[in-house]
Order: sequence, then structure tokens, then C-alpha cells
Amino acid sequence: MKNKYLNNLFISLGLLLLLVGCASHPTHSPENVHWSYDGDTGPNQWGGLCDEYCLADEGKAQSPVDLTQGDTHTESLGFDYKPSMLNLVNNGHTIQQNMSGGSFTIDGEAYKFLQFHFHSASEHTVAGKRYDMEIHLVHQNDEGEYAVLGVLLEEGEENAFLKSFFDDLPTQADQVVKSDEVMLDVSELFPENSPLFTYWGSLTTPPCTEGVHWYIFQKPVTLSTAQLKSFRDIYQGNFRPVRDLNDRKIEMVQP
Ligand SMILES: [Zn+2]
Repeated sequence: MKNKYLNNLFISLGLLLLLVGCASHPTHSPENVHWSYDGDTGPNQWGGLCDEYCLADEGKAQSPVDLTQGDTHTESLGFDYKPSMLNLVNNGHTIQQNMSGGSFTIDGEAYKFLQFHFHSASEHTVAGKRYDMEIHLVHQNDEGEYAVLGVLLEEGEENAFLKSFFDDLPTQADQVVKSDEVMLDVSELFPENSPLFTYWGSLTTPPCTEGVHWYIFQKPVTLSTAQLKSFRDIYQGNFRPVRDLNDRKIEMVQP
């Protein structure tokens, strides 16, 4: 488990940087720190906003990155998703669906499905190409480690999964849209027969925590022009620019 070892190493380095790397920054508690995708609190400033965000500047295993085809890696991935009731929140940075069940399993280790949310345009690029949107499905294991699945979207045919709720997104910050009459089954979202890029990275929003196990489907799925507009009328440009890969490797997994 070389990757696991590297992961632990990255976490240790990250903790070390938290201890020594940001001592000169002003201290604020992170709940009161405003961050954004542009201006004085935009991505290039995140690392200086408070001590807890220092990995944004100092981390060596940050996300997103530009994805390029790597060697194929053997790993057993399991997707166990059940339909979950619509429970959207506009959190001021994106629209997020909070999940009530389901899990993603990597070599037998279960990561509980917490939520999915949207970025426009995509955060990861593929050989330099930026897609119109990216969906992140966030999972966490019992040790608190994250595994995030990414689905890239490009403008084209209407997306059947998004159709059930995209006309009624929460437009205002802190607004919630809930319905037990709309059940979401995210497995309908995944592209068929697609390999996945995998690498070790970070959360793409502050505090940009490292040790995140990333899996991004190589094949994009589509959404219609009207669906893209529905989201972009609320959030456009909520993506972090790509970070240096440094000495990390991107590998491919065939599910
Ligand atoms: Zn995200």
C-alpha cells in the first residue's frame, strides 16, 4: 500500500506545516473567515486568511490538478448508492445535496456518502481542457479520511439525473430546498464504462485539507444549455485554479 504510506506522509507534512508554516499569519477562527472565488478573499489569498487555511499556500498535495493519462492501477471500487430524498442547500459557495445514506468502497474500505455539490466551470482539467461543470461526491471513512468522486460535465444532451431537481435550485445563500417526493439516485449520473483518474490531493475549498483520495471519471457526461444556465444563474466561476502536481502521480483505475 505505497499510496497509503504516501498519504500518511502527506498528512504528517501537512500537520507539520500547520504547526510551523503559518505562525506569522493573523489568527481568526475559521468560522468567521470569509473566502470567495475572486478579489481580496479569492483562491490566491486563501492561505493567508487564517492559520487553519495555510495548506492552501504551503501544501504540496493540493487539488485540483490537470489530469493526464497515467499507468493503470488495480483497485477494487464498490458503489453502493440508494435513492436519497432531495435536500439541497445553497451554502454561499455552491449548491450542495446532503445525503442520508450510501457508500463508496475502495479495496474493501467503506467511505460513507456525505454530500455532493457543483462547480462551474470544472476544477480538474484533462490535458488542459476545462469542462463546463464538475460534480463532487464527498465520502468519509471512520478515520475521518475523505474520498471524493468527480464527474465532469459538458454542454450537450439534457441530463436525466439533473432534470428531477435542476428547475428548483435554492438561489439565495442559506436557502434550503427539500422534498420527500423527489428521490435522487446518483448512480444514474455516472458515465458508462469509464476509467477513472486517481491521485492523492486535497479538498478544493478552505481549509484545503490534504490526504484526500480522488477519483475522477475520465468520460464526461452531458447537460443541456438550459441546465447549465440554471446553475450559472446562481454560481459561475466557483472553481479553484489547478495546483502543481509536484511529485505526485496520476493513475488510472478501471471499475
Ligand atoms: Zn468540490
